[in-house]
Amino acid sequence: GPVEMCHVMDRVYNILEPLAEDYGVELQIECDEPKTVYGDLDRLVQLALNLVDNAVKYTSIKEAGEKKVVARCYEKENMIIFEVKDTGPGIPEDAQRRLFERFYRVDKARSRKVGGTGLGLSIVKMIAEKHNAKVTFESKVGEGTTFRVIFNKYTEDLKEQSEKSNEALQNNRK
Ligand code: ATP
Ligand code: MG
Repeated sequence: GPVEMCHVMDRVYNILEPLAEDYGVELQIECDEPKTVYGDLDRLVQLALNLVDNAVKYTSIKEAGEKKVVARCYEKENMIIFEVKDTGPGIPEDAQRRLFERFYRVDKARSRKVGGTGLGLSIVKMIAEKHNAKVTFESKVGEGTTFRVIFNKYTEDLKEQSEKSNEALQNNRK
């Protein structure tokens, strides 16, 4: 059904703000007016949790400098964009193309400090695909990383389309 992304972000903030505080990272959420996409609320919370969790954890292991994560949602050309921007260590270019592989972690020694299995981003990708959304990122070592998930905006047309394809799926199963 329709999912309000500001609501997703509120949930994520409530879950991860205590962690961010522990880790000495400032966490900021920006979502001013309703931004609606079509999909599964719990899955979208899981997607957002993984991205913000990464941003907070990997920013916290930076030695010095500003430690800040901003998650925001905005509309652009009929798309809804969920963005997570951090001032963390960044991701080296040679690691970038492997990032979404299952169990892949950039720097084993460094990453060990914050735990994790290397599944987070593969889950993000899987959930995004189920929502016909695209995941992009840009990153610069020493400056930070920005992840974006680009959704179609929720409209009545989109709803009908997706109901039809669900029906088709169900009929195929019979
Ligand atoms: P899990 O999410 O399963 O707990 P994980 O965080 O190691 O473990 P992913 O979320 O898939 O796994 O991330 C893969 C790797 O990408 C991480 O180990 C980390 O090295 C790197 N990475 C992900 N997000 C960031 C980020 N925002 N800044 C720097 N490195 C990142
Ligand atoms: Mg992770």
